[in-house]
Amino acid sequence: MTMKSISNLIIFLIVLNFSASASDSLNIINKKVSFGFATNPGRSVNTVIVHSTFNNSGGDKYDIDLVIKQFSTYGVSAHYVIGRDGKIYQLVDEKDNSYHAGKSSLPDGTTNVNSCSIGIELMTSYTESPTEEQSKALLNLVNNIKTRYSIKYVLRHSDIAPVRKTDPWNFDWEAFKKQLDNLKK
Ligand SMILES: [Zn+2]
Repeated sequence: MTMKSISNLIIFLIVLNFSASASDSLNIINKKVSFGFATNPGRSVNTVIVHSTFNNSGGDKYDIDLVIKQFSTYGVSAHYVIGRDGKIYQLVDEKDNSYHAGKSSLPDGTTNVNSCSIGIELMTSYTESPTEEQSKALLNLVNNIKTRYSIKYVLRHSDIAPVRKTDPWNFDWEAFKKQLDNLKK
């Protein structure tokens, strides 16, 4: 092996390592809450539900602490909230039931959706779409969840509670599902 091919190999390995860590590692920020969830030992996760939320109570509508404060008022939560900059905040352990789905049902008839799902909130408003960073973070997070559980459904809140809910808002769901499917290949 020549010096040139050795240096090419080293560059190749560096690039390979960089691209693997960029897509595989998730930087999760701990924002665990003390409300809006229930322990459920041995629960089996087979569903991911995507939502939208924002702080509707004055101040910065996309401030994570104000969003969490609003959740506490209603006694609700989500496992994850994704900020406008793509930061992923974890509010509830995946082993616990988070109160995010409300009265809803899965296509197979399951009605206790909180007990078998992971809930993810995108910070968006009624008029704004998720940012590119948010969409990318959601893609990485859901893909990561799919490597750890046997996921049957990735659905919108509006899919499981169509009369009550319209979220996630202003989000190209078909494009997202296509991107998610492409990651498997
Ligand atoms: Zn929702």
